[in-house]
Amino acid sequence: MDRIIRLSDDAGHIRAFAASTTELVEKSREIHLTSPVVTAAFGRMLTANSMMGIMLKNVKETISLQIRGDGPLESAVTVSDCFGNVRGYVANPVVDIPLKYRGKLDVGGAVGSGTLTVVRDMGLKEPYVGKVQLQTGEIAEDLAYYYGVSEQVPSVVALGVLVDVDCSVKAAGGYIVQLMPDATEDEICRIEKNIKEQKPVSTLIAEGASPEMLLDCVLKGFNLKPVTEVTPDYKCNCTKERIEKALVSLGKIELKKIAAEDGGAELGCYFCGKKYNFSADELINLSEKI
Ligand SMILES: [Zn+2]
Repeated sequence: MDRIIRLSDDAGHIRAFAASTTELVEKSREIHLTSPVVTAAFGRMLTANSMMGIMLKNVKETISLQIRGDGPLESAVTVSDCFGNVRGYVANPVVDIPLKYRGKLDVGGAVGSGTLTVVRDMGLKEPYVGKVQLQTGEIAEDLAYYYGVSEQVPSVVALGVLVDVDCSVKAAGGYIVQLMPDATEDEICRIEKNIKEQKPVSTLIAEGASPEMLLDCVLKGFNLKPVTEVTPDYKCNCTKERIEKALVSLGKIELKKIAAEDGGAELGCYFCGKKYNFSADELINLSEKI
């Protein structure tokens, strides 16, 4: 079962999130039929976004990550609710590029140069939008850069997705450690020292590390207590009404034309692939409402 834990110290100097997301990343791979390097890139986004979801304060809020690069993956978007439930869409799910070295998938090469956008929708008129240039396209470094530059929250982000020889997801997870404004110089030094001694997150994940174990080394010497724990999932919230909105955007004339020429329409949800059918009568009714 996938899990996300959140830890904090009494003084509020540090907060940490860690996730095991093997099942939800595999679910997304089955829906989007991604090739290994895209499974890794998209899986890292889903893992990070899921942890960012539980940072939200209100059940109505959502937070999304958007990557737009000049690599063959082109673009991808993920969204999370406050329970860490995620969904997403990737423009080009099948990318086949050479490995970086010794079996390492070249996520940065698939993504390329471009931008990372974080959109926090609080259910108000204007969402909060932060945008930075991609640093490496490897997602974790880009997100750490985003937090430092856009939110002024020094953060350590580590994400890993291990793809099996049959292309399924063997293991996925990661962590985010953040220094709050009251963190001391000594605490910052200790974390920097711990990171140097830390095994790569992909190694830990391959060893079957739990979310707690992912944080063991990086938080060595700190007394952090669990705050909350959730079981995230790849979950879509699409409805026929939402899909209707996409049809309406085609305009009155186009809808009537589809009704007359095709006798109806079938539309799939971008996030989960679920199919929705519209009869010719339904299309004409929709066109009348425009
Ligand atoms: Zn859906």
